[in-house]
Amino acid sequence: MGEIKRHPERGSEDRAVIRAILADGLVAHVGIIDSSGAPVVIPMAYALDEDSLLIHGSVASRLMRTAGPICVTVTVLDGLVVARSLFNSSMNYRSVVVTGVPQVLEGEEREKALLTLSDFLLPGRVGNAREPSRVEVRQTAVWRLSLDGATAKIRTGPPKEDPASDYDLPFWGGVVPVRTVFGEPESDATSLAKGTAAPEHVRRR
Ligand SMILES: Cc1cc2nc3c(=O)[nH]c(=O)nc-3n(C[C@H](O)[C@H](O)[C@H](O)COP(=O)(O)OP(=O)(O)OC[C@H]3O[C@@H](n4cnc5c(N)ncnc54)[C@H](O)[C@@H]3O)c2cc1C
Repeated sequence: MGEIKRHPERGSEDRAVIRAILADGLVAHVGIIDSSGAPVVIPMAYALDEDSLLIHGSVASRLMRTAGPICVTVTVLDGLVVARSLFNSSMNYRSVVVTGVPQVLEGEEREKALLTLSDFLLPGRVGNAREPSRVEVRQTAVWRLSLDGATAKIRTGPPKEDPASDYDLPFWGGVVPVRTVFGEPESDATSLAKGTAAPEHVRRR
C-alpha cells in the first residue's frame, strides 16, 4: 500500500472512503509499462466489485496483453479552488490510486465480471440488453485488481493561503464547484422504432 507523504492529512486507507469514491467515479486511468519499457496511461471504464476493481478490454489490446503490476487512478473533481495568489490556487477532489498485479479472470468468473461491469455504470443494464455471446466473451479480457493496495486522497474547502500576505489583496478567493451530471436520454433516431421511450433504468441514471 502506498504511504501518502505529500499532504498526508488528505489521505486515507479507510476501505469505506475508498469504496465511496470509486462508487462516484466514472472513468479509471490505467497505467502500465508497455513491452518497449515505456509508461502509458489509458482511460477505461471500470466496476467496483466488493473489495476489488474490474476492468476489461479486447484481448488484442496492448493493455490487456501486458503482464505485471499496474496502477489504476479514479478521480472525482469537485471544484476549482481560486486563491488570491496563483501559487495557492488548487482543486477540490476525491481520488483513489490502486496498485497491484491484476488477476486475469477466466470462464464463468469472467462472464459474471462482464455483467458486473455492464451494470456498474448503468444499473439495470443486465436484463435490458442482449448478453455477450461465447465468442464475445472470448474476445474480452477481464482483470480483477484487489483494493488491498489502494489509497484515497481528498481535498475540500476554501483556498489555504497566508492571511498576513494575501488576505488583503484586492482579488477574489473562493471555490467554483464542479459537478458531472447526466442529461436527458437521447433515443437512437436511426434505428429505434418511433415512440419507444427510454426505459426506467436509463431515465433513473
Ligand atoms: C484533480 C487533482 C489535481 C491535482 N493537481 C495537482 C497538481 O497540479 N500538482 C501536484 O503536485 N499535485 C496535484 N494533485 C495531487 C497529486 O495527485 C499528488 O497527491 C501529489 O502530487 C503528491 O504526489 P506524490 O507522488 O509526491 O505523493 P506521495 O505522497 O509521495 O504519494 C505516495 C502514495 O500516496 C498515494 N497517493 C498520492 N497521491 C494520491 C492521490 N491524489 N489520490 C490517491 N492516492 C494518492 C499513492 O499510493 C502514492 O504512491 C492533484 C490531485 C488531483 C486529484
